[in-house]
Amino acid sequence: MAAITAAEQGVTGVLVLEGTPEPLQKVRISGGGRCNVTHACWDPLELVSHYPRGSRPLRGPFSRFACGDAVAWFDEHGLTLVEEPDGRMFPRENRSEAVIQCLRLAAAKAGVQLRTRAMVQRVTVEADGVFVVEGRGLEAPLRARRLMLATGGHPSGRTMAEELGHQVVPPVPSLFSLSLQDKALTACSGIAIDDVGLDLRLGDQRFRQIGRVLITHRGLSGPATLRLSAFAARALHQTHYKGVLKVDWSAGLGRLGVEQRLQRWRQDQASRTLSASRPFDHLPRRLWQAFLAMTGSDPERRWAELPLKAERRLVDILCAQRLEIKGRGPFGEEFVIAGGVALGEVNLASMESRCCPGLYLAGELLDVDGVTGGFNFQACWSGGWLAGQAVAEAVTGSGRTR
Ligand SMILES: Cc1cc2nc3c(=O)[nH]c(=O)nc-3n(C[C@H](O)[C@H](O)[C@H](O)COP(=O)(O)OP(=O)(O)OC[C@H]3O[C@@H](n4cnc5c(N)ncnc54)[C@H](O)[C@@H]3O)c2cc1C
Repeated sequence: MAAITAAEQGVTGVLVLEGTPEPLQKVRISGGGRCNVTHACWDPLELVSHYPRGSRPLRGPFSRFACGDAVAWFDEHGLTLVEEPDGRMFPRENRSEAVIQCLRLAAAKAGVQLRTRAMVQRVTVEADGVFVVEGRGLEAPLRARRLMLATGGHPSGRTMAEELGHQVVPPVPSLFSLSLQDKALTACSGIAIDDVGLDLRLGDQRFRQIGRVLITHRGLSGPATLRLSAFAARALHQTHYKGVLKVDWSAGLGRLGVEQRLQRWRQDQASRTLSASRPFDHLPRRLWQAFLAMTGSDPERRWAELPLKAERRLVDILCAQRLEIKGRGPFGEEFVIAGGVALGEVNLASMESRCCPGLYLAGELLDVDGVTGGFNFQACWSGGWLAGQAVAEAVTGSGRTR
């Protein structure tokens, strides 16, 4: 985005160095191969609430280039984005390849050169402020007056930023599933439920989320779990991904509502069995039976005979089941890195480094990350566009506002 924006504004000699054989591979695998490009969130103040790290400082960049601008930008470049009922926006073609094609075509049209298999390993600055770039796949060092680092979560970018004088917030994974001890629950893998309340206390910090949860063979995943992991990413890292998660399966009924429902069932469904007559429609049969088993109740028992102790235990499980977290999802499953170049080191109006003039930074390399839903790419489009504009202004004096 930065390279295209600068080149479209008349900056010549824009060169992208990509370490792998193909650029935009993360775009390719993103959103399950569909690429969730952005989110239909038009209010910058609401938009920033989706960023566990970077929330407040992003107000500035988002006031200049936010979701609506990204939608318009892609539209101007031949890619229509379509909104899904939950606000996520995907290319009309429903394939991430369409986004790659759009960006590659726009880059080629604007005259951006791309060199692949060029892994940058070292950046130094000469006395006159010229950057010298060296690396694997580069026959000779390259020189440039302006340089942008957009190396994503790759450690090389953080190392180079540090070597150029930036403070880097240590990276930790964000957006991961949770592994749980509870075998009875994980036996229900494949079940997804809406309106589940998650409540995690770690030391004096409390993290809460409500939403869709997916039970997996290891523990919990799904949007609400991923959001929880994002906001608790650093705290969970500190506890080595251990803690007790309280889960509210009552879909907002609350303790009193659940108690009343169970009492009503005991009377109205007295002669039916616990497993045959479920009092909560939103709980699939398999999960309901697992909950019954957790209370030690025989599923073939009649409602009238449900012991009071088992009923109380059922209320506890439904409203505040305590689940021991034993780790996070397997390595490689995480979607983004929390941490990176500290935001105070960057002028967020231009994405230019405050300690290294002529150097621009954007994307996942920065200490910014969002929850799932297209927010991570949005921060990349915004930062990239602002950096491209700033370079164009500096080089040609031609920056424009949207
Ligand atoms: C499986 C998965 C699915 C995702 N789905 C979504 C989604 O649908 N929506 C969303 O908003 N976010 C999604 N994300 C997050 C999103 O992909 C990232 O936030 C985004 O790609 C970050 O963009 P970036 O340009 O900063 O880094 P990257 O996309 O990682 O790009 C950095 C590029 O720099 C190259 N590079 C790194 N170091 C060097 C070096 N030293 N020299 C040369 N080249 C180098 C890398 O090879 C890479 O091509 C997903 C992430 C994953 C892992």
